[in-house]
Amino acid sequence: MKITRILAYRVELPLHETTYKWSGGKSVTVFDSTIVGVETDTGLIGYGEVCPLGPFYLPAYAEGVRAGLRELGTHLLGEDPRQLTKLNRTMDAALKGHPYVKSGIDIACWDILGQATGMPVCELLGGRYGEDVHLYRAISQESPEEMAAKVAVYRAEGYRRFQLKVGGDPDLDIARIFAVAAMLQPGDRLVADANTGWVQHEAIRVVKAVREVDVYIEQPCFTYEECLAVRRQCAHPFVLDENIDDLNILLRAKADLAMDVVNLKISKLGGLTKIKQARDLCVSMGIGMTLEDSWGGDITTAAIAHLAQSTPTEFLFSTTDFNSYVTLSTAEGAPKRVNGRMSASKRSGLGIKPRMEVLGKCVVDIS
Ligand code: MG
Repeated sequence: MKITRILAYRVELPLHETTYKWSGGKSVTVFDSTIVGVETDTGLIGYGEVCPLGPFYLPAYAEGVRAGLRELGTHLLGEDPRQLTKLNRTMDAALKGHPYVKSGIDIACWDILGQATGMPVCELLGGRYGEDVHLYRAISQESPEEMAAKVAVYRAEGYRRFQLKVGGDPDLDIARIFAVAAMLQPGDRLVADANTGWVQHEAIRVVKAVREVDVYIEQPCFTYEECLAVRRQCAHPFVLDENIDDLNILLRAKADLAMDVVNLKISKLGGLTKIKQARDLCVSMGIGMTLEDSWGGDITTAAIAHLAQSTPTEFLFSTTDFNSYVTLSTAEGAPKRVNGRMSASKRSGLGIKPRMEVLGKCVVDIS
């Protein structure tokens, strides 16, 4: 089987809640997502999606996905999309870095492998665990009272895991954590995600102030070293996210005992092939995981569901259904949230069919 054409479509994904806000005053109102199609000489077509969280979250931006595909695409024509490790080596040889550019192609090729073998991606990634997986809900940064009120709204939608966006003024963040924690019920889990927003001394103040609260602390500071310093003075379960973007830093963080849970995102690692390596390593090393992506719609959510449900249940801390945050559906067959949970399709590949009328005209066409 050979890759004969690579296409990309640009879609805008508005939000039900209008704006998503996190640390440092960063916000997005309409997400700019790229859907990647990989065509083959057999007629099989696979799809992937890459949607950065704006241009200021990770070293990734929406137009960069398209520019990168134009650069990389011609190197992949004629390659076998089912030989994923080899395909990733070809991508890494042709374009240094830029993992998010490669992510959409890699996801699309897993979709092709699934369709070619008649197997769901979840089963190809290692096997299906359980009937479904539990979801977390991110609580966009607002006043402590508004954020606390959201807990009841999201719990009514079935969510039991809440990720509070902090990383602002430390005194306000302490108030946010106490206000939201007061709304929790037995069985709920709370994460305070600072998204690199605190400097080290502020982070230490916050973790000491909320010492008695049952809360996980996620990515308090900008650098790995600052986070490690906070971790060493922190009594809470600790999550690293933005700093963990390849296997070398994952292994270093394990050696330093720098985290209890790691947040792995498909496009941050560079696709399903590379996140599978990291995921399997975390299982072997005893590290819990939040498995997700930066953002996205139906196709990203489908890829996340296959990844999450192929992870041993006790290691899956949480995952996300981004397609429920956005107002636009880009594919049929994507996972739908039921009681705060979702499940991976049992159809072959990702189990999705893009709505071509929504995708419109392609903006990248390599053949
Ligand atoms: Mg995070």
